[in-house]
Amino acid sequence: MGQKPSAAKSSSLPSPHRYKAILLFGAPGSGKGTQGKILSAIPGFFHTATGDIFRSLDLRSEVGRTFWEYSSRGELVPDEFTINVWKNYIKGMEMTNAFHPETDLLVMDGIPRSVKQTQLLEDTIDVVKIIYLVCADMNKMVERLRRRALKENRVDDANDTVIRKRLEVYEKNTKPLLDCYPSDKIAQVDATMSQIKVLQKIIEVLVPVKSAIDHAKETQERSGLAPTSPAARTPEPVGAI
Ligand code: ADP
Repeated sequence: MGQKPSAAKSSSLPSPHRYKAILLFGAPGSGKGTQGKILSAIPGFFHTATGDIFRSLDLRSEVGRTFWEYSSRGELVPDEFTINVWKNYIKGMEMTNAFHPETDLLVMDGIPRSVKQTQLLEDTIDVVKIIYLVCADMNKMVERLRRRALKENRVDDANDTVIRKRLEVYEKNTKPLLDCYPSDKIAQVDATMSQIKVLQKIIEVLVPVKSAIDHAKETQERSGLAPTSPAARTPEPVGAI
């Protein structure tokens, strides 16, 4: 994959101070959302999907309007803006006790989506594994997105020009971020299999990862070295964009 950008291979902060995370990675329509929602039902996993966070914003607000402006064209929302929204969201989740960084593994769905976003997240997340949902047949992705448009009433899925633009953006801006990570962190899963088979493969990858993290935490707790979370270190006002 050529020369690796320096992001995400190291960080200025030791990993115990960052949220442990796995990335659900893949093209629009590859099934990240479906699998992420299933994983979120398992205790110890916390699913965040930027698309869902953005769609829950009030479209009359400035943040909501910015999202709409870019997503309706099939473009990525600007990097700093996106990361700011996400960081505030996750901090809010932690403060309200919905997300428990000491025990939960973050399931990142749709973020990061560029090398820049990967770099901007470096101080906050420690990526322990990437599940790369691979689909060689782009027509299949387009077909799935068209079906989703009918089911979920998503305007950005209903228009072929917008769909094609999103797939183009994925190839050009999102895929290169894989180069930020060592290849042994990336587990490829064939996204064209049935949903239950994709889930089976993902579980096979994640069971040892989660067990190792839990084991390390137990050992730390026994030795009295409990980690502090990013939110505990940086008490910034939630909602400041
Ligand atoms: P999909 O993965 O099917 O494209 P999402 O629901 O994840 O759909 O995202 C919908 C839209 O929200 C994207 O097309 C983009 O405009 C915006 N978006 C979501 N996540 C990000 C991100 N990490 N960076 C920039 N824009 C994003």
